[in-house]
Amino acid sequence: MSKPRIIAIDGPAASGKTTLARRLAQALGYAFFDTGVLYRAVTWAALQKGEDLQDEARMTLLARTLDVELRITETGETLVWLQGRDATQELYSPQVDAWVSVVAAHPGVRQALKDVQRRLALQGHIVVVGRDIGTVIVPEADMKIYLDASLEERARRRYEEARRKGHSVTLEQVLKDMARRDALDASRATAPLRPAEDAYVLQTNGLSADEVFEKVMQWMRKKFPNSNKTPAPSATS
Ligand code: C5P
Repeated sequence: MSKPRIIAIDGPAASGKTTLARRLAQALGYAFFDTGVLYRAVTWAALQKGEDLQDEARMTLLARTLDVELRITETGETLVWLQGRDATQELYSPQVDAWVSVVAAHPGVRQALKDVQRRLALQGHIVVVGRDIGTVIVPEADMKIYLDASLEERARRRYEEARRKGHSVTLEQVLKDMARRDALDASRATAPLRPAEDAYVLQTNGLSADEVFEKVMQWMRKKFPNSNKTPAPSATS
């Protein structure tokens, strides 16, 4: 084996997972699958229908019957089609942000979304991002990475990103929301956020995206010594 078949990246919000996943996918010519969109899609649909998001049975039914189609584009984006249209942008609204961890904590919802994640992941040549990918969804992934950073640093990154996009938020609000979401994700009974025992764990405080990428590539070259032989077309871009 010269390259990992499945790369699992887990970690809390704004720990750098998506940026790293995109870089890895591009360098290796792999697909990139962001599993958070599935939980966001269920949350979005529940809000649209005015459902009670605390009701596990209702949320599970919604997750099981959701008319969702994932399209992974050539540039590595996961587009989410809901009810026949591209709803990807709406999945990142403040309202979805506020509720998604409540919906994701329902064991029935997680079970309903597990198969589709496994099916996609097991196709291989894919970087899969989430909270429980290395522990629950594809424990057989042959390269597992867990990124972390302090709450303050992650909130600052998310705040700056929101400001760049023109959203009017305060750092305090972002920090408060993130702390709440982290607590829900880490304390839920089913598939809580935690590193797999065989994951490479990286604290990204103070590290640039380039440094994170280089560190992970070093680990990968060590674990898969032949991965160097495959040219990485955009490793330096
Ligand atoms: O990664 P993203 O911020 O889009 O994820 C949104 C939420 O979905 C997370 O806060 C978490 O509650 C949930 N999630 C999860 N398991 C995953 C991916 C996301 O519980 N594999």
